[in-house]
Amino acid sequence: MQRVTVLGATGSIGLSTLDVLARHPERYAVFALTAHSRLAELEQLCIKHRPQFAVVASEEAARHLRGGLQAAGLATQVLVGEAGLCAVAEHDDVDTVMAAIVGAAGLLPTLAAVRAGKKVLLANKEALVMSGALFMQAVQAHGAQLLPIDSEHNAIFQCLPGNFAEGLSQTGVRRILLTASGGPFRNFTAEQLQAVTPAQACAHPNWSMGRKISVDSASLMNKGLELIEACWLFNARPEQVEVVVHPQSVIHSLVDYVDGSVLAQMGNPDMRTPIAHALAWPQRIDSGVAPLDLLQVARLDFTEPDMQRFPCLRLAREAAEAGGTAPALVNAANEVAVEAFLSERLSFPGIAALIETVLQCVAVQPANSLECVLEADRRAREAAQQALKARA
Ligand code: NAD
Ligand code: MG
Repeated sequence: MQRVTVLGATGSIGLSTLDVLARHPERYAVFALTAHSRLAELEQLCIKHRPQFAVVASEEAARHLRGGLQAAGLATQVLVGEAGLCAVAEHDDVDTVMAAIVGAAGLLPTLAAVRAGKKVLLANKEALVMSGALFMQAVQAHGAQLLPIDSEHNAIFQCLPGNFAEGLSQTGVRRILLTASGGPFRNFTAEQLQAVTPAQACAHPNWSMGRKISVDSASLMNKGLELIEACWLFNARPEQVEVVVHPQSVIHSLVDYVDGSVLAQMGNPDMRTPIAHALAWPQRIDSGVAPLDLLQVARLDFTEPDMQRFPCLRLAREAAEAGGTAPALVNAANEVAVEAFLSERLSFPGIAALIETVLQCVAVQPANSLECVLEADRRAREAAQQALKARA
């Protein structure tokens, strides 16, 4: 029996994870559930999955939840804040941690799971983008098992040889082909992009996701973050990772070998596939996802990404090449910019512009310690807030 903590249980990935877990009660037990908002939903999830712990953001929320859980006859203990998140991520009784908090807020709890040597299912790409070198060192040092949940990275993991950690070239890999749907604005002109709304950005054609990653998908920053994520996960140089726009989102990514073989992982665009893969790896379990109907798909298209209309991808690639705290700066500036776009304080093209401004104001430093990374994150947020004020 694997005992699983789900960080970010009320989110899109969290709910998909609980769906897969509930299909296999003989294999998995839910150890802890965490949420930042949507308290009523968390309470319902606790009643359904009966975890030993729940974690919420404030004392007030905790009091409220304790009341509800006691009334329902549950013994679930309710913890609070970042300390609570870390406690349920590193607890001795936990085997597997699903890291599905969105953004930099997930960094410390995810690292806590890594440092406790857990099996870590990584959806929270921002954590790895911010602190890649330290994160991967911690995985090594503490014997954690890191499995990618991001559909592209999970696909690449499935297509790579088992010994890929020895180095991509040594194992015959020429390059990684990272597929991108192109998002809802793939065919928009620069003028049309100027006028897009948060509702349009959050209506992704193929995937149903949280609001932040939906905006990232629309701006191609998601692909940029994924490029950085791929470099860390698979020990690849940025030039070994090529982005290909594939609007059907049926091929989730590919690996190109020196002998000319190209391996792809395919499936319906449903996150329960990578979640089930990572949960059961190296075995396979039912995920609830319908079988792929190739006749229904009928055709697969591929085009080059347009870095002019979608400069976020270029900014992320440059940050991957620059190294140090550059990815942390881009990530933090992007989080502030996306929030401003979602609250209609910034235009869609303003997201990339704001990130560029931050990169001009804040110098890249070596990312030698967690303190350096957190300091870069703080500085970039401050610079982004200032630039937003200056625009207003
Ligand atoms: P979401 O917005 O639907 O859910 C986020 C979860 O994190 C919620 O449970 C929320 O309560 C919690 N949370 C938010 N802010 C928090 C904070 N400050 N402290 C603690 N908890 C907080 O997001 P999502 O779409 O499920 O994405 C989660 C992560 O998975 C992101 O990093 C995203 O990039 C990644 N991811 C998502 C998908 C997808 O299909 N949704 C695919 C690949 C990767
Ligand atoms: Mg992805």
